Amino acid sequence: MNLYLIELAYLLATALFIFSLHWMSDPKSARRGVFAGVAAMLVGVLATWAKPDILHHWWISIPILLAILPGVWLSLVPLTAVPQRTALSHAFGGLAAGLVGTAKYFYWFGHEQDMLTPFRMVAIIAEIILGYLTFTGSLIAAGKLQEVKWIPQRPWTYQGQIFVNLGAFALALLLGVLLIFMPDRAFSPVLFVLIILLSLNFGWMLVMPIGGADMPTVISILNSYAGLSAVAMGFVLDNKLLITAGALDGSSGLILSIIMCKAMNRSFFNVLFGAFGQVQQSKAGEQGQYKAETTEGAAQILEQSSLVVIVPGYGMAVAQAQHKIRELYDQLKKRGITVKFAIHPVAGRMPGHMNVLLAEAEIPYTDLVEMDEINPDMPQCDVCLVVGANDVVNPAARSDKSSPIYGMPIIDADRARQVFAIKRSKNPGFAGIDNELYFLDKTFMLFGDAKAVVGELVKQLTPGSGMH
Ligand code: NDP
Repeated sequence: MNLYLIELAYLLATALFIFSLHWMSDPKSARRGVFAGVAAMLVGVLATWAKPDILHHWWISIPILLAILPGVWLSLVPLTAVPQRTALSHAFGGLAAGLVGTAKYFYWFGHEQDMLTPFRMVAIIAEIILGYLTFTGSLIAAGKLQEVKWIPQRPWTYQGQIFVNLGAFALALLLGVLLIFMPDRAFSPVLFVLIILLSLNFGWMLVMPIGGADMPTVISILNSYAGLSAVAMGFVLDNKLLITAGALDGSSGLILSIIMCKAMNRSFFNVLFGAFGQVQQSKAGEQGQYKAETTEGAAQILEQSSLVVIVPGYGMAVAQAQHKIRELYDQLKKRGITVKFAIHPVAGRMPGHMNVLLAEAEIPYTDLVEMDEINPDMPQCDVCLVVGANDVVNPAARSDKSSPIYGMPIIDADRARQVFAIKRSKNPGFAGIDNELYFLDKTFMLFGDAKAVVGELVKQLTPGSGMH
């Protein structure tokens, strides 16, 4: 294909990537954003394939065909498993970048040593360090989120860990600098392999001490590393689309990490080295007694409220309770009750998780209120209905300096006049800590699966059945 046409296709793909990100920032245009992203990727792959210097089409077709199967399988995972699926994608992206950098280095080392200029070597070193550390780091992150048995979900720490980790990274960088100036000596390939091993090792060591509520931020940091390794790969392969797409990926991952750090009141340094959620053992039962309520009693109180705030969390996603919640919303609205949904930025298991589910149930966007906006209204709220949320409504984050979630902004459910909390058991949430909200005098538990309990509430409120 004509080279100008290929450059034009790259320009089109870049524009589509930019529009895709823009559209994805609003729920109304998000679907269009996804299609634009897919189209951009397709244009990019086809245009690259059409380059005149691509000769072995069969060799390219085979891995593409083989990759379709796991790709389809990955696309079918439930919404609750999307964070670990995303982590796996970053792992594959990182591995691809690392392998391309490795292949390029050894090819040039064996055949065209003139190509190993300092500029290309900087790009190759950046590519392999970022690529391989993203690979093992993302695999561990995916394993932690999937709750794989042999990977500890809680932070795995030991004394002096930060020095060991930073030491390994510094050593990889040092060897990298050596290699930039001596890429073509007999021992250079050994240095290259050492850098790969150190980076693979650094990746998993980086993520092992992280756990609890910091995992979403880590995933987006790894996303940005994968993007940056693609940028470096773009320089190595002299491919402009890889540079622009990688830069978009890297910067959007970084921006998302910053937003999430802000939402959780954490610094980057703390996320990477703070061993969040580490120490507290579950103290269920020590803090107080749970008081259970029946759905009949809860429905009566809901009916007499004027402002009801629903706080959805991970449990709503697990139970797929959003459609029942929509029915509850309709029943309450019919009675002239104001119903708002309080959306915490890290509720569920991925950014925007709650928005997606509530949008699926066609709950008006106008009634979805961000944490900062809803909190001042919480003292006027008659009933706060917590549906499968735990960490994001834990007041310990505000008051208990010893709590591992101390400092994370929360939805002030405890400031409502009365709280009903739906969950199945006395188990803690993602951060593994007790929630004093459940022991307050004003809180009543509605134990059970969120879909079933909300369904019961709807029944109670529906004329002709239950209490009517
Ligand atoms: P949590 O994980 O803190 O709590 C969820 C609660 O839902 C649990 O206590 C559980 O209790 C209950 N639950 C589970 N299944 C059901 C069910 N079928 N019916 C009713 N209840 C159920 O969730 P939150 O949304 O409050 O907080 C999210 C946490 O996840 C935060 O710590 C956040 O940092 C972290 N995280 C967020 C990500 C993101 O990007 N949003 C990504 C990764 C982690 P029980 O078992 O008793 O039912």
